[in-house]
Amino acid sequence: MEGALLVQKYGGTSVGDAERIRNVAGRIAAAHAGGNKVVAVVSAMGKTTDDLIDLAESIARDPAPRDLDLLLSTGETISCALMAMALREIGVDAVALGGGQAGIRTDAVHGRASIVAVDPKRVRAELDRGRVVIVAGFQGFTEELDVTTLGRGASDLTAVAMAAALGAERCEVYTDVEGIFTADPRVVPDARVLREVSYEEMLELASYGAKMQPRSIELAARYQTPVLVASSMSDAPGTLIHGAAERTAAAMEIRNKVNGVTYERGVARITVRAVPDRPGVAAALFTPLADAGVSVDTIVQNASAERLTDLSFTVDGPELARGLEVARPVAAEIGAADIAGRGGLGSVSIVGTGMQNAPGYAARMFRALHQAEVNIEMITTSQIRITCLVDESQVERAVRALHDAFELAQEE
Ligand code: ASP
Ligand code: MG
Repeated sequence: MEGALLVQKYGGTSVGDAERIRNVAGRIAAAHAGGNKVVAVVSAMGKTTDDLIDLAESIARDPAPRDLDLLLSTGETISCALMAMALREIGVDAVALGGGQAGIRTDAVHGRASIVAVDPKRVRAELDRGRVVIVAGFQGFTEELDVTTLGRGASDLTAVAMAAALGAERCEVYTDVEGIFTADPRVVPDARVLREVSYEEMLELASYGAKMQPRSIELAARYQTPVLVASSMSDAPGTLIHGAAERTAAAMEIRNKVNGVTYERGVARITVRAVPDRPGVAAALFTPLADAGVSVDTIVQNASAERLTDLSFTVDGPELARGLEVARPVAAEIGAADIAGRGGLGSVSIVGTGMQNAPGYAARMFRALHQAEVNIEMITTSQIRITCLVDESQVERAVRALHDAFELAQEE
């Protein structure tokens, strides 16, 4: 009987030292011995990437992105080579491949390159020889054969891209936590590991702090590649991320539940007041922000009163000064009354596919925040998420209150 083709990914903590590399090699060997074809993508050991960035910055104030990529890629090259050695030590035939050898082709946007194609010819050939293939995560190469990196945390992306290109049964992401939690366990002691979440939910959870790089989830959703997130240090079942259509009966029953509470710190808000209500105003404001590379998160525009409207949007805390600098002259130009910025904010969100078309959730969220004496600064929603902007100092209290209000500690 032909085994499955598995793509596994091991994060930096899981390969943090020699002992842990041996532990992971044992797990890969077990999957291989089970008759599966195994491709394992590895991250750099522990804090290697951060250390390399510090090292670069101790030499050059503003290192050239191309040089930085060549340097940073070495982190994953090290763990990839060591993992292959560890496997051969225990009698498993393994081959280590860099991103280029594994066929990860990217554009030339150094530091956060996009994958343009994956050509897994070499990977397939090695699998056909019966070998375990270890792939260095996070790195790719351009048409010119320059080394690129895919952005922080992007070994996840390498793994999902590999799984999609190979048509793997699923992508298994092994990390130092047991899966996707109902909330950050550091903030909520009785947070629980979710059995499964949809891609959409995971995208919301990922973009609000829970781990896994968001681009990797988008890619998994696009190719309908199921992703299992589990611990490399235990045998707990982990969380399966997959399409809502394939959800099991058990998961269907919890359709009407909020699945998680997420939060973010370090949010800032810019409010442009009394903007004349005419076409082109939003474009005039947000185009220069985009051009200046200020990434805008949530945008809220009021219904206008007397042809004037308020427009608020959020940016990352550290971007506040720059955002104001760019937006202030535009605000004056379009005839707005004034512009103000406020830092020191955070956000709390409830997430769940089951919230679609169910009006009770918002009210319950606001009641819970009221009872916890948390003031709401701004509210935004998507189909499966309700987010409240709150003072940063109240974020943790708000998260705990919501986790309680939606009874997330209870088993599904
Ligand atoms: N080593 C890279 C980083 O620290 C990529 C990764 O770990 O996924 O961002
Ligand atoms: Mg990671």
